[in-house]
Amino acid sequence: MTATTGASYDVAIIGGGHNGLVCAAYAAMAGLKVAVLERRDVVGGAAVTEEFFPGFRNSVAAYTVSLLNPKVVRDLDLAGHGLKIVERELANFLPLADGRYLKVGGEHTRQEVAKFSSRDAERLDGYHARLQTVTDVLRELVLTTPPNMVEGGALAALSELLKTGRLANRMRRLAPDERRELLELFTASAGDYLDGWFDSAPIKAAYGFDGIVGHYASPYAAGSAYVLLHHCFGEVNGRKGVWGHAIGGMGAITQAMAKAAAAHGADIRLGFAAREVVVENGRATGVASATGEVVRARAVVANVNPKLLYRDLIDAAVLPAGFRERIARYRCGSGTFRMNVALAELPDFTVLPGRERAGHHTAGIIIAPSLAYMEQAYFDARASGWSRRPIVELVIPSTLDPSLAPPGRHVASLFCQHVAPTLPDGSSWDDQRERVADLMIATVDAHAPNFSRAVLGRQIFTPLDLERTFGLVGGDIFHGALDLGQLFSARPMLGYASYRGPIAGLYMCGAGTHPGGGVTGAPGHNAARELVRDFRRGRLRRA
Ligand SMILES: Cc1cc2nc3c(=O)[nH]c(=O)nc-3n(C[C@H](O)[C@H](O)[C@H](O)COP(=O)(O)OP(=O)(O)OC[C@H]3O[C@@H](n4cnc5c(N)ncnc54)[C@H](O)[C@@H]3O)c2cc1C
Repeated sequence: MTATTGASYDVAIIGGGHNGLVCAAYAAMAGLKVAVLERRDVVGGAAVTEEFFPGFRNSVAAYTVSLLNPKVVRDLDLAGHGLKIVERELANFLPLADGRYLKVGGEHTRQEVAKFSSRDAERLDGYHARLQTVTDVLRELVLTTPPNMVEGGALAALSELLKTGRLANRMRRLAPDERRELLELFTASAGDYLDGWFDSAPIKAAYGFDGIVGHYASPYAAGSAYVLLHHCFGEVNGRKGVWGHAIGGMGAITQAMAKAAAAHGADIRLGFAAREVVVENGRATGVASATGEVVRARAVVANVNPKLLYRDLIDAAVLPAGFRERIARYRCGSGTFRMNVALAELPDFTVLPGRERAGHHTAGIIIAPSLAYMEQAYFDARASGWSRRPIVELVIPSTLDPSLAPPGRHVASLFCQHVAPTLPDGSSWDDQRERVADLMIATVDAHAPNFSRAVLGRQIFTPLDLERTFGLVGGDIFHGALDLGQLFSARPMLGYASYRGPIAGLYMCGAGTHPGGGVTGAPGHNAARELVRDFRRGRLRRA
């Protein structure tokens, strides 16, 4: 039994993740009547702040900000809606087993790296300059709709040809050496790329961590250099490549986005679990909820992972057979294990003692001393589900934002990489979660022996929990691997890179579209542009 709600919308968006909200805000700003339909009782998707232990709040999934596009920040007036972002005092801190440590970021990086290799210290500026040239190209592409593979005659292909021409023109502005660098960064492994620049292990680990974040592969897997690059195209308050913290946590970003969308008239519905996209006469005409309610709309936009959309929310019979087969092969699975802990006190690192807040407590604290360690963690996870020497990044946001914890107390995020998305022995993550959580805490304890004693409460997200809670297929934090075969014109699939799905009136606006994952707002921005264009050109008619 289904009931159609009275209101009929121009646009119904499935999912109130940050991209759904951005898409809603832009569509509403263009005068369209928009509904956001979110399954959970809070908007934000993976970018939320929640109380996970009495009195302790944290960004429970995504935890650090850089990639959020400055145009989105401006257009939606996120600052006016309460968003404030601060920089970390130090980018990264790597405690090492031999009693040394590396601090990265700020004016002392060169001196710090020189402790391990004076040649590496001299090469830092060159490395950053090269990376910057290529990330500048990426930055220019982030808010564009990639050239799309189209069927039909020359006319249909013309606009795509023009886009390709513009792209080629941009590449021509690069010097030959820069083009070689770009090719390398798009195809090589992060490990090979970094080995080409540096000799000492800790600096390669500090930079190489970005090449394995959310990317379930060895740092020596081809294509992982792109993942490294993907983590470098952001900025904080105009400072390129820097990572920071949103005061109030990542939820402050999405709450500001929701306010912006609502201020322009978008309706945001919580607790609306979409069960199916309604398709009539080959067109998407609405969204049916799990309780049988139908929200009618001229266009349906999916903020969810494309695999989830086409596998679970659309009748297979209305999809082209070839499309169905290929989207079933869309690769998802991040290898991420995520914990939030409430702390009685700050970790006291053996290599840099002190429980009083210091610069290194504000950093991304990486427990993974080398690329070889990361590679081994991946091999171990492939063989047995996780490594006994896992990769952990510890971030303590309450050092920058005391509002998250009671006075004198702290909250920390543990972002652990390279656990198997599904366990190789066929057991469930539900049976292993506590054990693996203990291992992650013990891994920090090995460097800061007061850590486990300081833990007052903990929240655990295995890959299975990430899927159940946030709808992230295989726990994939990016809505699909950032492999060359799933990027740019091929995201989520060749022929569907224009944010339009294979059914008339169906659009995609989530991280499974260009430019991919991270809290960027870019897919939502780009999808809204295409959607609004289709209304303006009369391909879609207003409700
Ligand atoms: C553990 C973790 C750590 C991360 N760390 C960072 C970080 O520090 N910095 C960063 O930039 N990025 C980070 N990311 C990546 C980033 O958070 C995501 O790529 C990004 O949030 C994706 O945004 P989205 O709006 O496209 O999708 P999502 O945030 O996944 O939102 C999709 C929305 O759809 C809803 N939904 C699902 N199914 C239905 C349904 N049937 N009906 C209605 N609604 C539905 C979901 O509840 C959700 O709200 C992290 C992600 C994770 C999981």
